[in-house]
Amino acid sequence: MSKQCDFCDQKEIAKSYACPDFDIESIFLNLDKRETSSLVSHSIGHWGACTTCAALIDADKWDELRERSLTTCSVMKGTTGAEREALLEYIKVLHGEFRRLRLTVA
Ligand SMILES: [Zn+2]
Repeated sequence: MSKQCDFCDQKEIAKSYACPDFDIESIFLNLDKRETSSLVSHSIGHWGACTTCAALIDADKWDELRERSLTTCSVMKGTTGAEREALLEYIKVLHGEFRRLRLTVA
């Protein structure tokens, strides 16, 4: 299990959320390199969240959580324009799946 928050990369896990395994693939256009990139995520089991992210999840503040991920996650560093937009969309889908699927486990 990872030792950092799955939402913002902070090295703290305050709360763990049960979630079924799932895969997500996003394909987006990288305008600078003139090619398409795909980003695949395999979500396996529990998601860990730091104190701040857990508070946002529990309060159902998904937009704020996405904004937080956008500014803190290492994958976002150095991205601009269309690439950043695509990653934002990717995070939206990823969080959306987590949000939907975690409700299926008791
Ligand atoms: Zn976090």
